[in-house]
Amino acid sequence: MSEVRTRFAPSPTGFMHVGNLRTALYAWLLARSSKGKFILRIEDTDQARYVENAVDVIYATLKSAGLEHDEGPDKDGGFGPYIQSERKGLYRQYAEQLVEKGAAYYCFCDKCEAENDEEIHEASSLCPCASMNAAEASEKVKSGMPHVIRQRIDRSKVSTFTDTVFGEITIENKVLDDQILLKRDNMPTYNFANVVDDHLMGITHVVRGSEYLSSTPKYNLLYQAFNWEIPEYVHLPLIMGRDAEGNVSKLSKRHGSVSFENLVSEGYLPEAIVNYIALLGWSPKSDREIFTLAELAESFSVAGLNKSPAVFDYGKLRWMNSEYIKALSPEDFAAKALSFTTVANSFLAGKWDKIAALLHTRVETFADCQEKIAFLLEQPEYTVELFNHKKSKSDPDNSAADLPLIREKLAAITDWTAENISNALSGFAAETGVKAGRPMWQARIAVSGCAVTPGGPGEIMEILGKEESLRRIDAALTKF
Ligand code: GLU
Repeated sequence: MSEVRTRFAPSPTGFMHVGNLRTALYAWLLARSSKGKFILRIEDTDQARYVENAVDVIYATLKSAGLEHDEGPDKDGGFGPYIQSERKGLYRQYAEQLVEKGAAYYCFCDKCEAENDEEIHEASSLCPCASMNAAEASEKVKSGMPHVIRQRIDRSKVSTFTDTVFGEITIENKVLDDQILLKRDNMPTYNFANVVDDHLMGITHVVRGSEYLSSTPKYNLLYQAFNWEIPEYVHLPLIMGRDAEGNVSKLSKRHGSVSFENLVSEGYLPEAIVNYIALLGWSPKSDREIFTLAELAESFSVAGLNKSPAVFDYGKLRWMNSEYIKALSPEDFAAKALSFTTVANSFLAGKWDKIAALLHTRVETFADCQEKIAFLLEQPEYTVELFNHKKSKSDPDNSAADLPLIREKLAAITDWTAENISNALSGFAAETGVKAGRPMWQARIAVSGCAVTPGGPGEIMEILGKEESLRRIDAALTKF
C-alpha cells in the first residue's frame, strides 16, 4: 500500500475552534499510527474571510498541541506551495481540462458571484450558459468577457460513496448545484482547490468535519472527471454543547470557550485539552481515558471513530485537566501557575513555591489559583460569626478569650515554620485541656478570614510571615 498522507487544511479565519483542532489531531494520529505523513495546507482562497495573524495562530496551536507537521508552508516536502493563494496560477488549467471534458462550463451570468448566486444556479433551474455551444463560449472567453467556471452536474444520476465513519452514502445528483470552481479572478473556490490540491499533494485520507459530507459527491464527480483516484474519506461527527437547561446544540460560545487559545488562557494545559478532544468522537478499545500524545498515536485506529455527535463536557475537561496538573512536578506547576495569580507583584512574591505547593493538588485549572489564595494577598472582610465551629467547639466568646493567649505563644516562636506554629497551637490545646481543633480553627479564621483554606493555619501563617500573622490576629481581636 502506498504511504498514508493526511492533511490539515484550515482556512485562516481567526481562532482555532476545538473542532478544528480535533480534525488536525485525528489527521495527525492517522498519519502517525500508519507511519505516514501529516501535511499542513493553508486554504486562504476566500480572501474576504481572511483574518490577519490567523496563520500564526494555526502554527502556534499545532506547536503547543504537539502536532508537528511533516510538510507545510514552512517545511517543503516537494508538493508546495502549501498556501493555496500561492498556488493560484495552477488551477485554471485544471478547470479548463474539465471544460474540455464536458464536466464544467464557462458561465457569463452577471450575478455569478452575487450573494443570491445559489438561487440562480440551484439544482432545478439550469443556468443558460450551461447549454451554450462550446465555440461560442470560447469566443466569449477569448474576447475577455468576465466569466466563472462551473461544475456541470449530470442530474439524472445518483452518487454513492463510502465514508470510513459514516458508511455508505447515496444521494441523487439532482440536489447538487453547479458550483463555481474558478472565480472571475482565476481564484479557485474551496470546492475546487481542495480536490486539485488533495490530488496533487498525494493525499490518501481526507479527514474533516461532517459538514463537508453533503459536498463530497460533487468532489467525487470531479475526481471521476479527471480520472483521479478518490481518497479515503474520514468525516468526523459534530461537536455539540449542552446548555444549562440540558438542551444540546452545536458547540458555541454560549456553552463555554470554544477555542484552544481561550481554553489555555483559562488555565487548561494543552496536553489535557488534546487528550480530552481525542476522546470526542473516538473510543479506545479499553475504558482508559488518560493518554499522552504518543500513547494516542499507538492506540489510534479509524475503527474507533464514532459517527454520533459528541457532547463537549466542560466538567470532564476540568477533571482531566486536574489529573494533568497533579502529574506535573512541583517546579513545573509553580512555573506554569504563577502568571494566573498576582503573587509575583505582591509582598508574597518570595513565598510562591510554598503557596504553589498548597495549590498543586487543589485546583482543576490554573485559573482556580487566584481565588483560592486571594485571602493570603488580602484578608477578606468577615464577622466574628465565622469563629463558630461546632466540631472543634469554637465560638466568638471563647475565641475572644483564647486568641490573646494564642498570640502570645506564637509571638514567642523564634523559628517561624509551619511545624513550630502547629506545635504552638496544639501546645495551647494541651495546656488548656481543649480539643486540638479549637485553637486551629480560631487561628485559621483570625489569619485568613475564611472557613475553607488550602492548607492549615501552620502553613498559612508560615507563608504570611510572623509579622503579618500577628497583625491579622490583632485585627481579629478588635472585632470582638
Ligand atoms: N478549509 C476547510 C476548513 O477550514 C477545510 C476542509 C477540508 O479539510 O477539506 O473547514
